[in-house]
Order: sequence, then structure tokens, then C-alpha cells
Amino acid sequence: MLVLLTVLPVFAQLKKNSLKLPSIQGYELLKCDFHMHTVFSDGMVWPTTRVLEANQEGLDAIALTEHIEYTPKSEDFTSKDHLRSYAIAEKSAKELGIILIKATEITRRMAPGHFNVLFVKDANAFETFVNKDDTRDGKNIAETLDEAKKQGAFVFWNHPWFQHPENRSEWQKIHEELDQKKLISGIEVVNGDRYDSLVFKWCLDKNLTIMSNSDIHAPMVLFPGQYRAMTLVLAKERSEKGIQEALVNHRTIACMEGQLFGKEEWVKPVVDNSLIVKARQINDKTAILEIENTSGIPYKMELTDASGIRFRLNSPLNDFTLDALSQNTITITSSNFVKGTEYSVKLNVLNVQVGAGKPLEYILKFRI
Ligand code: ZN
Repeated sequence: MLVLLTVLPVFAQLKKNSLKLPSIQGYELLKCDFHMHTVFSDGMVWPTTRVLEANQEGLDAIALTEHIEYTPKSEDFTSKDHLRSYAIAEKSAKELGIILIKATEITRRMAPGHFNVLFVKDANAFETFVNKDDTRDGKNIAETLDEAKKQGAFVFWNHPWFQHPENRSEWQKIHEELDQKKLISGIEVVNGDRYDSLVFKWCLDKNLTIMSNSDIHAPMVLFPGQYRAMTLVLAKERSEKGIQEALVNHRTIACMEGQLFGKEEWVKPVVDNSLIVKARQINDKTAILEIENTSGIPYKMELTDASGIRFRLNSPLNDFTLDALSQNTITITSSNFVKGTEYSVKLNVLNVQVGAGKPLEYILKFRI
């Protein structure tokens, strides 16, 4: 018993490959993936495997989103219950403290495309809306999503570019109708390894929730320090209710391959709280900046206005990276550093975007 108690937690810790993020005052910054599949639709793994993967990556919440209209393995997995994978995974999720959200995927031809329904109560109810002669027929999508609305669900549009003849996202008449009727509340700005700046713009312009998910079908394979696409949720509490409230109120950030996409009010505190800046003077012309990046996201900085301060960088460009989980040391020079003075330098954080193609502005302040 003693062996179990001491060895297991250490082992569990060693195995984790969890993206480290700073805390944000007033919120829990939750790592979530709201789009994935198991053998109960067209995925390749058992439902509990998704929970173990999420645990290994330190995720807070996941949703198993099996297709209603597409169950290619139904000869082997005969359950007619569209929430069967949820039922199987529920116990492991509870044991590991992962919030498992009841969900499903409505899978129609573009347009309208695919939609995930989170916090669903009765996924089987959507069967009624499937055209048995043409299961991908999207004609009654408004009625189908109205059923989701009646169940109090949160609906978002998945990978808007998928199955578009030109492989691009297009806001079509039906999407306008679904938006007008408040039948969609968010869109995937990121799906797997694809980010779409146009979709990011739609989310900001139409005040739809920014979503970013893996849509993983195969087993999740990641190198240490590599992370899946996820939605960072600023929740008032770490619970299903807390996540739902945050999604409805658009408090999310898309996170993909070391990049963040979100409203300035949410991404700014993430960057601010990741960095600890200290400076020490060498002489009246030289000082050392010590910038500790406590997060797992490397920040790619671009100097925009250094007000007479020169950064001694390795690169001839005005760019430098604050490496993740590292102390970053930069030598700076000026015609005259005065002890006790506060200096500020303007930077763009190139991999943190607050609009399509618009990096976050960051003011680096330090006292010599
Ligand atoms: Zn899917």
C-alpha cells in the first residue's frame, strides 16, 4: 500500500505532457478539447483511451462527439445509443478529475456542414431529423439545431472549410439564417492543424465563440512539448456549468501549435501573467533584461518602438523569442541609463493574435 501511494503519483507526473499556463485573476484557465471521435463513430480508439490521453496532457475537459449520421463500425458496435461512448468513459473521467461533456456531431453536406452539440441531453433525438435516403442531406438543419436549442445545448460550426469545393470557408445563406435564429453560438477557428483567419474574423465580427479542437480520430501521438489544438476557456469555476457559462459568454482562446487567437481582453492577461521581467544595470550605457517565461508558450516578440534603447539580439531583425519555461537574458544599451528610472518598450507578440493578422501589442516595462 505504501509503495502504491508513493510511486503512483510520481509515475503519473513523469508521464504528463501538460501545457503550462499562468493563472488569470478571477478565472480558471481551462484546457479543453470539444471535438473527438472513438470507435462509436469513425474514430480508432476506445472511449476510455480518450480520457487517458486527456489526462496525460493535463486537459480539464473533453467531449466525445460521435457522428449521428455516420457510424461505419456499427456492425461491431451495435449500440444504438449515440451517447454510448460517454457512458463508457464517464467513470474513468470522474476518477481522473476530467470534465466529460455529453456531446454529439451533426454531420451534413456543405452547406450547411458539420455541427457539434455540447451539453446535449438526448443525442438519440437527432435520429428523427436524419433523411434515411440521404443521411448527409442538410435541408432540415434549422429544425435539427432547434432541437439542440430546446435541449439547452451549445452548438458550434465545425471546420467551415471542410468539403467546400475550393477547400475554403464561406459564409453562406444558410449560415446567416442559423446565426440570425441563434442556432449556432460558435465556430472552429482551429480544427486539428488548420487555422483559418477568415473564421477568426467572423467570430469577432459576429460575436460568436472562438473554438479550437483536435477532431482526433486516430490515437493521439505527441512529442514532449507538443500539444493538441485546444480551446482555452476562462471559466468562473472548474465545472461543466462554469464551462457552459464561459462558452455562452465568449470567454475562450484558440490555442494551436504555440499560437493564441482571441480577444485582447482574454489573451493579454495570459501573456502578462506568463512573464516576469527584471532588469539590472551594468553601467550607464548597458543593462541586462531577465525575462522569465513561466508558460509553455514561447512568445515571438517584435520590437516596434524601443525609444532609444537598443536590444543586442542574435538576429539582425527586431525579432526575438521568449522561450517557453525559460529564463531569457537580453543585453540592452542606451546612451544613458539612469538608475531608478522606469523604461518601457513597445512590442508585438507575433504568435498571439487579437484579430485576423493583428498581433497583440505588449508594453515591456522595467526599472533599472
Ligand atoms: Zn468530427
